[in-house]
Amino acid sequence: MIKVSGLKKEYVSENKSLIVLDDLSFHIQKGEFVCVVGSSGSGKSTLLRCLSGMDNGCEGSILMNGEPLKTYLKNASIAFVSQSYSNFPWLTVKQNVQLGNPKANQLLIQKTLKRLGLFKFKDYFPAQLSGGLRQRVAIARALIQETEIIFFDEPFGALDVQTRAQIQQLLLDVWVEEKKTIIFVTHDIDEAIFLADRVLILSSERGTLRQELSIDLPRPRESDVQFTEAFSKLKKSVVYTIRAESIKTSLKKEDLKKKSCRLGLFIWSGNAPWYHASESGIFEKYGLHVDIISTNSNEENLEKLLTDQVDTLNTTLDYAVRSIHNHPELQIILPLNYSNGGDALVALPEIKKIHDLKGKRIGIEKNAVSHFFLRYLLQKNKINSEEIIEVDLLGGEIGSALIRGDIDAAVLWEPWLSKATELSGAKILASTKEKEHQILYDVLIAKKTYIKNHPEIISTLSSIWSDVIDSPKPQLISSAASSMGISDKEIETSLKSFRFIKTYTKDFLLALNNIQQFYLQTGLTDKILDEETLVSL
Ligand code: ADP
Ligand code: MG
Repeated sequence: MIKVSGLKKEYVSENKSLIVLDDLSFHIQKGEFVCVVGSSGSGKSTLLRCLSGMDNGCEGSILMNGEPLKTYLKNASIAFVSQSYSNFPWLTVKQNVQLGNPKANQLLIQKTLKRLGLFKFKDYFPAQLSGGLRQRVAIARALIQETEIIFFDEPFGALDVQTRAQIQQLLLDVWVEEKKTIIFVTHDIDEAIFLADRVLILSSERGTLRQELSIDLPRPRESDVQFTEAFSKLKKSVVYTIRAESIKTSLKKEDLKKKSCRLGLFIWSGNAPWYHASESGIFEKYGLHVDIISTNSNEENLEKLLTDQVDTLNTTLDYAVRSIHNHPELQIILPLNYSNGGDALVALPEIKKIHDLKGKRIGIEKNAVSHFFLRYLLQKNKINSEEIIEVDLLGGEIGSALIRGDIDAAVLWEPWLSKATELSGAKILASTKEKEHQILYDVLIAKKTYIKNHPEIISTLSSIWSDVIDSPKPQLISSAASSMGISDKEIETSLKSFRFIKTYTKDFLLALNNIQQFYLQTGLTDKILDEETLVSL
């Protein structure tokens, strides 16, 4: 259907030239659903413009059904749906849809409106519709054009998580019925894997094709496929490829004389400011070259720090305290954020207070911060951890286990917390929203020798952090979302569940003390260390 070989696109302005796509070659079968992912600026939109003939200045060959793109476009067209709502505000829904194909008869218009669930809104104006409905109008207009191919350029980026899930499902249904060939650009990796037969990963380095990944998940797909092992394997592979790409790019830019630091980070929204600093060149502006290295589990991460594979590491405060007790050569260098309602102990409605948890099954992720939070709450309520049954589950599974009734209670965190409590009817017994439970912090730790030998790097990191967390929210969200490969909306929602900090606040030091007390009382450590030992000031 589509055969691209040696595609190249160079933007030339004044005396500068920028090669965005270089020697790109791939095939797309008729009826295939292909997603294109890549970090922002990797040339995804440029690729769509070349393939749709909107940009004529592309070198190389694009064949459609065996004939050159130009010839193909003489008798056919390609439908296009973009993120910005491309509807005309002064036309009704029906008129907007009709615009896609002035020759369409009433029957086809009605069928298309019904298919997209828009029939009862047909006389509304776009301004009267929600974002999800407006994007349905855009899809309806694309469908009615009766093209073989539809291009999508980050069409659902502005929608909230739930609306996005619905419209993705709808799009898949429509695709199955209409047998269209779809090329769908997104920076949301979950979305790409959920939708696609195949995912193309663009290299940020020089617009080449980094990897093609077949998505062999069975169809029809329901949204809970995202909780399967197969799905998370695919996701890891894509995340890894994109991440490896951006490290390579930054290495290339590296000025060898420059100061540099390897920063080990969990992939989560609490680190959005670091991702933003990296994406928008803020590290470089401060004269610091930073390689962000993604980390997975607490144990693995600590190993990376102890064996000098990273210079500084992001970890939770409880784990930091334990690690420093076990490895006195470590120290906290910077507080980052704390959970403010983002984590909670929840239980089915018949369980009214923490004491009623005795003998009950409680879902947690072992050795994660949720595990610590549970033990901490139990200890505060003088319940022995042997008096409850801990069920070890993965973060994403805990909510569904609670909804199914496989467990009686759980420690959950956003984005699952709100959804799972709503669906299971579970009630919150304790949440980090309450001041007395504000003990879930993230910090940055390093070896004392590193701190001593690189004081200027430590202070630069700290200045960058305190600058970046005050960046305008939309900037922070969009660059973090594209470098983490999740939707803007997800980051936005998640940002509400914790707060960034830049100094060791009184509450932070109190939490530090509470955690030490907890470890001492549960016998995990045998002494209390003073603040100066734990924290580098
Ligand atoms: P993506 O959609 O993956 O975010 P784009 O295709 O929009 O990336 O852009 C790729 C690169 O090309 C970016 O570095 C962008 O700044 C550059 N670029 C895009 N359009 C133009 C243009 N008209 N002139 C010059 N550079 C451009
Ligand atoms: Mg784009």
